[in-house]
Amino acid sequence: MEKIIIIKYGELSTKKDNINYFLSTLKKNIINSLTGINYDITYDKSRMFISTDNFLECINRLKKVFGIHKITIGYKISNEFSEIENSSLELLKDKEFKTFKVNTKRSNKKYPINSMDISRKIGAYLLKNIENINVDVHNPDIILNVEIRINDAYLYFEDIEGSGGYPVSVQGKGLLMLSGGIDSPVAGYLAMKRGIKIECVYFEAPPHTSLEAKNKVLELARKLAIYNNEVKVHIINFTEIEETIYKEIPNNYLITIMRRMMYRISEILCKRNNCKVIINGESIGQVASQTLTSMNAINRVVDIPVIRPVACFDKLEIINLANKIDTYNTSILPFEDCCTIFVPKHPVINPDINKCVEYESLIDYKNMIYRAIKNEQVIKIKPIEENKYTDIL
Ligand code: ATP
Ligand code: MG
Repeated sequence: MEKIIIIKYGELSTKKDNINYFLSTLKKNIINSLTGINYDITYDKSRMFISTDNFLECINRLKKVFGIHKITIGYKISNEFSEIENSSLELLKDKEFKTFKVNTKRSNKKYPINSMDISRKIGAYLLKNIENINVDVHNPDIILNVEIRINDAYLYFEDIEGSGGYPVSVQGKGLLMLSGGIDSPVAGYLAMKRGIKIECVYFEAPPHTSLEAKNKVLELARKLAIYNNEVKVHIINFTEIEETIYKEIPNNYLITIMRRMMYRISEILCKRNNCKVIINGESIGQVASQTLTSMNAINRVVDIPVIRPVACFDKLEIINLANKIDTYNTSILPFEDCCTIFVPKHPVINPDINKCVEYESLIDYKNMIYRAIKNEQVIKIKPIEENKYTDIL
């Protein structure tokens, strides 16, 4: 018997037309996630198999690869029926249980015994050879799964939940507006889960924002990089734009106009970097700039889809997810980001688009945007070092 990791795809396997592309992408992502571990990988249309001498670390890393539905430790044997019986007995004889059930799946339809009969025969064999056990098909202590394939067979017990979703990058790329807050890392995680590879943009406003604030954002990007292989962060100096808006534009429109500038810059970065959407952490009603009227006034300036994965989540739901992906404790570190410093006392809740346009005509924003993009700093961030992986599981 060879001990082996079995990977099940779930949702992925319903995408018949581009399954080959999905699977080769998944394989590539798995290979990236297993850097530094010895392993072999093979796959077909329904399963991937990984043999390794480091099961624990392998499984911990696979849990963070999108497109994997379930992970199981299984045992590879020949599909000779007597070997299936003997191996089943060997696996079960030292386990503690009173009731059991055998489930058989037969992808090899030419196999001479059908699934029901295989389960029945193995069940009978186990009953004969292990004392004091019974079959319980409804609520067994243990389930033995048998999969019969063309050239071999697999035995396994329970599955471990994978992350689900689609392999990162099957949907192409998106640009995440990553602030140091709680919401945007969660938005990035959810977008990656749907198969979008992310790049990030962070707007900084030194000296009003600190190096610590920037490092915090980079640390969040590092946590997201675990799912994305690596993350490219575009750092845009927003100081000139922000100070000009602060000086020239009525205070209650400051946030609205600032966000319109962020959107404009993000759209240009998308076009330059082949990103098909902007992703951000806006959540309906959370702050003045996230009322539907505000979102409309802000969204108007771009001609590219904007997705807001946490738009309809309560703050508590977002916090739960942030804890799950281990970004929460970083997000709540108390370093101001560029919006919070300039935040007006009474931001407009229902901004008027004509006023936005009128106020923007007071400043030379096109040139400022041009300069900000010209001076962008790009940092590529790799996932957390290998020996830290286990700490966050
Ligand atoms: P978060 O918790 O993600 O910071 P928030 O509730 O503080 O969100 P806003 O500050 O209004 O809300 O920002 C809404 C979204 O705009 C953020 O989730 C993020 O996607 C983007 N954003 C805000 N500030 C920045 C920034 N400095 N750099 C990049 N993106 C930003
Ligand atoms: Mg914020």
